[in-house]
Amino acid sequence: MKKIGVLTSGGDAPGMNAAIRSVVRKAIYHNIEVYGIKYGYQGLIDGDIEKMELGSVGDIIQRGGTKLYSARCEEFKTEEGQLKGIEQLKKHGIEGLIAVGGDGTFMGAKKLTEKGYPCIGVPGTIDNDIPGTDFTIGFDTALNTIIDAIDKIRDTATSHERTFIIEVMGRDAGDLALWAGLADGAESIMIPEAEDELEDIIDRLRRGHERGKKHSIIIVAEGVCTGGELARRIDEAAGLESRVTVLGHTQRGGSPSASDRVLASRLGAYAVDLLIEGKAGRMVGIQSNKLVDHDIVEILNAKHTLDLDMYRLSKELSI
Ligand code: ATP
Repeated sequence: MKKIGVLTSGGDAPGMNAAIRSVVRKAIYHNIEVYGIKYGYQGLIDGDIEKMELGSVGDIIQRGGTKLYSARCEEFKTEEGQLKGIEQLKKHGIEGLIAVGGDGTFMGAKKLTEKGYPCIGVPGTIDNDIPGTDFTIGFDTALNTIIDAIDKIRDTATSHERTFIIEVMGRDAGDLALWAGLADGAESIMIPEAEDELEDIIDRLRRGHERGKKHSIIIVAEGVCTGGELARRIDEAAGLESRVTVLGHTQRGGSPSASDRVLASRLGAYAVDLLIEGKAGRMVGIQSNKLVDHDIVEILNAKHTLDLDMYRLSKELSI
């Protein structure tokens, strides 16, 4: 393999830059040329492709977002769009592609692989909702952003003796909510993977109040309901008032944590290794701190699971 391409696609995640840097440097280390494809699959169709050098990825390891930009591209979901992308790859002599993103991105990588173009997927999303890896690039940073915000909210919650509901991202996965809840000692955590009774949440609020607690924090994953909806339900059921904070896109930005930079560096380099070995249609991941790779089709058909023991623990610790 003499020339490879790299793109980032779907929602951006902190650490994507560290992954790009790792792909570029590792490839050049092995005397392989690297081409950066801007705006994900849209840039692939449009031929928005440029050669990257060692210096192209200097001073980005600490930056959030993605130097190659990202986009959602409906056209690439069509056969015609994919063929246009392949045309561009051929034009530039690119023999293999590394795609950093979530499951939609892997779907695109799968389609290209089926059409004879070897692709490797690197999981980059703050949601941590990809099977076959313990962590995705961006999850740790987003989690720390949430913790930082909740710590601040706690101060005001205590001063005013209030209940705060924090709505966090995660799409259909509860990982961010669960980890944030455990890390911040939330009274209640609502995640899509577990059914939490409203009465239980209200009981916890009342018990806390009776023993003189000055504040209560409830974390709700966006996959369950909005923070506003939960506040309304609690008010209607128990007449308890709460304040809602929606952290929104602040969770996606910021300088990547040390863990995300290391994870991205390891996964990006491993993806290059796989292309060199002649592998295709794989997704790289980390399991029990070991680099692994899986058939991308299996990953697309599998379901992400969350450690419900952690959820039970959070309940035990917030009695
Ligand atoms: P996130 O988890 O952050 O949303 P994602 O990679 O799942 O990331 P999507 O918007 O679902 O984000 O997908 C990114 C891009 O991948 C799409 O805009 C599209 O270009 C491509 N893609 C998604 N599904 C397919 C498909 N079925 N066939 C080909 N390409 C696809």
